[in-house]
Amino acid sequence: MNIELQLCGLVMLLIFLVLILRDRKLYVKNSFLFIAAFGACIVCLIFDIASIVFIHKAVYEGFSPVITRAVCKIYIMLLVTQGYCGFLYACLDIAVQFKMRLIRTLAFIIYLIGEILIIVLPLEYFMDGRTVYSFGPAALCTYALAIFYISATLYLSIRHKKDIPHRRLIALFTWQGMWLIAAFIQFFSKETLLVGFAAAMGMIVLYSQLENPNEHIDRVTGLFTQNALSLYLQDRYTYRKSFAFYTARIKYLIPNAELDIKKNAVIRSARAFLKLGKEPVFRIGDDIFCVIYDSPERAYEKLLEIKALADGVTDIPGEAKFIYFPDSNMLSGADEIFNFIHCYDDSAENLLVCDQELIDKMRSRSEIYGLIENALRDDRVEVYYQPIYSVKEGRFTSAEALVRIRREDGSMVPPGDFIPVAEENGQIIPLGIRVFKKVCEFLASGEVRALGVENIEVNISVAQFEHENPAGFVKSHLETYQIDPSCINLEITETADNGLKHLLMRNMEKLINMGVSFSLDDFGTGRSNLDYFVSMPARNIKFDFSFTQGYFSNDKIRHVMNGMVNIIHDMDMKIVSEGVESQEQYEAMAALGVDYIQGYYFSRPIPGPEFIGFLKEHHT
Ligand code: C2E
Ligand code: CA
Ligand code: CA
Repeated sequence: MNIELQLCGLVMLLIFLVLILRDRKLYVKNSFLFIAAFGACIVCLIFDIASIVFIHKAVYEGFSPVITRAVCKIYIMLLVTQGYCGFLYACLDIAVQFKMRLIRTLAFIIYLIGEILIIVLPLEYFMDGRTVYSFGPAALCTYALAIFYISATLYLSIRHKKDIPHRRLIALFTWQGMWLIAAFIQFFSKETLLVGFAAAMGMIVLYSQLENPNEHIDRVTGLFTQNALSLYLQDRYTYRKSFAFYTARIKYLIPNAELDIKKNAVIRSARAFLKLGKEPVFRIGDDIFCVIYDSPERAYEKLLEIKALADGVTDIPGEAKFIYFPDSNMLSGADEIFNFIHCYDDSAENLLVCDQELIDKMRSRSEIYGLIENALRDDRVEVYYQPIYSVKEGRFTSAEALVRIRREDGSMVPPGDFIPVAEENGQIIPLGIRVFKKVCEFLASGEVRALGVENIEVNISVAQFEHENPAGFVKSHLETYQIDPSCINLEITETADNGLKHLLMRNMEKLINMGVSFSLDDFGTGRSNLDYFVSMPARNIKFDFSFTQGYFSNDKIRHVMNGMVNIIHDMDMKIVSEGVESQEQYEAMAALGVDYIQGYYFSRPIPGPEFIGFLKEHHT
């Protein structure tokens, strides 16, 4: 009997079925449809084989033609079911829109009508040696339906190519392609019964490419991975199934060197999470776990349970920090959830509850992130210059470069709105480089120098020392634009971090050796301290706006400033007073002995060309 290929296909599918059933699965809509299609394929193959056995018996042993026809009909009906399941599975990634629902309803109606037609229409069978087939109106109907589902699947996949992940598209095409080729061969060579086998192979392609749950399992802990979480969340949002969840970040208090111990601790922690209940547990970072629940009450109860355990989960000392999300509807989707976790995963709190205020803050941060990204891409980062006046020389000898972002509508965003975010998320690196490049371009023409400006002061965040090697980029830019290092003065603020301070000092030393000078910014605010003031090899000290203003409103500040001026001068440093807004203030500062004055009294920060105009007006 001509059933070898089908038997092979069946055995293959049964082996895979065992594997699939054995794996731990994450139930998303995808997997249900896949299991339906897989099941249909197995049953179909069984009836494929049965129909050949029955036809054989009917033709050669006189077995009941009615029963044989019935078996043949069940087989072709299952074939159509398989095509229908495949179609649904293929449609899944295409957005759940009204139109899709319409197409799906239509496909269902066609499916029902097709199956009824197969039941009522006549079907004949033929067998001669290895040649075996069924024919007649019911068989024709099957062909028509198969062609309909295959072409509908291909059409939708091509039409919505952009909504379907590439890998899925390739897998779907391979699967459908195998069907088509097999059907084609079988149509012309009736002895080659390929369709059943091709369908089985197709299922295995889909399983290995799209549904293999091992891809979603973390090897160390056996928990689901971050990718799995992403899929799972997308699914829950798409089908509007609200949920609550929490993340736990466990910091094991062991030295880095003992990796094996840490691995062991992670495995034991994972086990503790699994013991909490049947809900899916994800490992979404080295030491971040996440569990999803249908109700906020249960999520919170379990959170408290594991929190009470947290330190005692393993005998390795650890510290756990939790973020609790009571209601998934507060966030717009998987991306926002990951964004939130990323944004707050180093929060100081042991239990952070995701509320509207935190969400708003995160949204504004991601908005700023986008603002900076786009501004860098579209070259909308601008540098303004605020003139700095030398009291002794009676002219403008310097200017501070201050960054701004121009919005697409032309309005300006002040640095206070985006620098703190950029410092936190690392965008300060590309941003700082862009500002420095613009300053170099500005200096390269030599025009400002010809107008008496000796140097430009550029702000550099301590965060830039952490991620980058500022000495390197400053040097390379100065060389590219052939700028004398003495034209650059870098303004720095302090850092409480000792490691950073060390790095800062090393870089400063390199830059000073190159000929670049430094100013200590924000003197007189909470950010300044004596240690820095003494150890920093800065040429200038910049009195902060609030410090300068305090001189006129606070007796104590006035006394401090009087004393500081002498101390700073004794230490061979110069003073720049920021925030001088009126003539009286200017005169008072000059009388106090301040060397340089910067403030609205002379000018607000202005664009480069305007600054050149300003210099021309005042210096010629
Ligand atoms: P900062 O370094 O203390 O800069 C001085 C700020 O005081 C500037 O604000 C300036 O416009 C403002 N200012 C100057 N004179 C007066 C005055 O007379 N009255 C008043 N009320 N304000 C005055 P801006 O441009 O908004 O910059 C704010 C901060 O953003 C800067 O403070 C600096 O910390 C940071 N920043 C600006 N550009 C950069 C940059 O390129 N890189 C980095 N890392 N930070 C920058
Ligand atoms: Ca500054
Ligand atoms: Ca300042």
